[in-house]
Amino acid sequence: MSVETQKETLGFQTEVKQLLHLMIHSLYSNKEIFLRELISNASDAVDKLRFEALAKPELLEGGAELKIRVSFDKDAKTVTLEDNGIGMSREDVITHLGTIAKSGTADFMKNLSGDQKKDSHLIGQFGVGFYSAFIVADRVDVFSRRAGSPASEGVHWSSKGEGEFEVATIDKADRGTRIVLHLKSGEDEFADGWRLRNIIKKYSDHIALPIELPKEAAAAEGEEKPALEWETVNRASALWTRPRTEVKDEEYQEFYKHIAHDFENPLSWSHNKVEGKLEYSSLLYVPARAPFDLYQREAPKGLKLYVQRVFVMDQAESFLPLYLRFIKGVVDSNDLSLNVSREILQKDPIIDSMKSALTKRVLDMLEKLAKNEPEQYKGFWKNFGQVMKEGPAEDFANKEKIAGLLRFASTNGDEGEQIVGLAEYLARAKEGQDKIYYLTGETYAQVKNSPHLEVFRKKGIEVLLLTDRIDEWLMSYLSDFDGKSFVDVARGDLDLGNLDSEEDKKAAEEVAKSKEGLVERLKTALGESVAEVRVSHRLTDSPAILAIGEQDLGLQMRQILEASGQKVPDSKPIFEFNPAHPLIEKLDNEQSDERFGDLSHILFDQAALAAGDSLKDPAAYVRRLNKLLVELSA
Ligand code: ADP
Repeated sequence: MSVETQKETLGFQTEVKQLLHLMIHSLYSNKEIFLRELISNASDAVDKLRFEALAKPELLEGGAELKIRVSFDKDAKTVTLEDNGIGMSREDVITHLGTIAKSGTADFMKNLSGDQKKDSHLIGQFGVGFYSAFIVADRVDVFSRRAGSPASEGVHWSSKGEGEFEVATIDKADRGTRIVLHLKSGEDEFADGWRLRNIIKKYSDHIALPIELPKEAAAAEGEEKPALEWETVNRASALWTRPRTEVKDEEYQEFYKHIAHDFENPLSWSHNKVEGKLEYSSLLYVPARAPFDLYQREAPKGLKLYVQRVFVMDQAESFLPLYLRFIKGVVDSNDLSLNVSREILQKDPIIDSMKSALTKRVLDMLEKLAKNEPEQYKGFWKNFGQVMKEGPAEDFANKEKIAGLLRFASTNGDEGEQIVGLAEYLARAKEGQDKIYYLTGETYAQVKNSPHLEVFRKKGIEVLLLTDRIDEWLMSYLSDFDGKSFVDVARGDLDLGNLDSEEDKKAAEEVAKSKEGLVERLKTALGESVAEVRVSHRLTDSPAILAIGEQDLGLQMRQILEASGQKVPDSKPIFEFNPAHPLIEKLDNEQSDERFGDLSHILFDQAALAAGDSLKDPAAYVRRLNKLLVELSA
């Protein structure tokens, strides 16, 4: 071995230590994946070299076929992986193999429970990468040199995967990275040609460059040891260039794990080749589980971009809208230039038309999933529903399609699970129902028992119950679906259209007329607190209710704006009362103006509470109520 200089010992970042610990303890039942992870990294490193060499051919240092070699030594109990990719400098090694750069990592680590089964799921979402080497090795040596750097700038990294690692500068003649795994005792099964070959076939067949293993050659006459011959063990062609019919599900799944750094199989995928004015292939995947950083602004998103089979960049964000940021995949274009940059991508009209086609592909894929695998779609919705709800605001052109993919809780007895689609809702709508009714609120329990639903319950009309923070905002972008408009049942003067019979309407009018006096008296008593007072025909059990003005902000939007420190326009509710309720009858007969005032304020405050709102003057409410209680017991 060459001379080592500038040797130093450094500590791993805390998060790395946690990850190492967790991995070793939760992935032992799946240990062979270390090879997939290391091959995946090597393949990325070769992709990067190929791309950088377009502009700087000297990085190829006189060529050499790009490849990955895996070898082993039964006696020394080692497995070695070598690639002639981009390689790493001393600084690269220290940052890449000593820290984790992903945003939100520290928070992620806090979520770990110590329960190995749960944590192994979590760690799958996180992706383990290089550190998985320590599942099978108790020492890992990395020898690397960055392409284009002099031989004297090689680096040797070594660690036992505990608290620290060593780095030293070495001479390394050839560029790229060699990783030597010193297998733990009991793990020597991996120092075996058949075992390695099988693992590579199983997990890495789709890797687009040759992965070579030594051939088991017999020694030639007169030689003690046979000369090492190599053979390629994988298919070594880009998976997305192959015809769909020839790619097995398992291959699609393994390819997904490689590009997405995910542990689990994807839920669904869509593989397409487009020919004509534009030529490109795409392979898009829906993950089974939301990544831990789905809501982190800086979290990686976007597709892997290739131009004529050459890898150009990761996280190309311009090909899909933000609300589909969870989609993973590759797009390989024949029309873009190899030196395309992120800035160019943002402006190129070719990208716009690819983006709308790819968006449609994803939405079609989701539609298919919803239709053919409703159980799987439920899982999808749990993981990504909140993000899909950003869709109608961002993607006007596909509003109707996205709306069809939304899932809601409803009064249909689903215990708050978001499983009702709009098509399903309309399919079982009442005869004559030409509206989609919904109610927004803070919690399922609150909306489920809301007095606003009384008339709907009576008439057996289903109402969608929307309790996600962004629901009211979402609904402000949706006006109709399949020609039927949405109606917020807490808003305006509820008009049930054909669902009310002519007799109902006539009776309601008569009642309203007979209560005109009470309406006036209430207006005077409630004064500035209300925009309007009227007789309600949506109540059966409750005495009164507050409706939101047609154009006013709802409670959720008001709370969101207030929380973000914005000024919320003042709006007053409409007070509707139930003329048939005994309390209202009592009120109507109340002679004392003082008691009438107290009682109407109590009814007003109660209606606000039932709607989940807070009281402007809670102390006044308590005082009035107690006054009444005292009178009662007197
Ligand atoms: P990830 O691949 O998810 O970024 P890893 O922990 O697997 O995380 O690797 C960390 C980084 O180390 C990689 O992003 C890459 O920059 C570098 N790296 C790992 N293996 C190699 C390799 N064979 N050649 C060059 N760089 C590598």
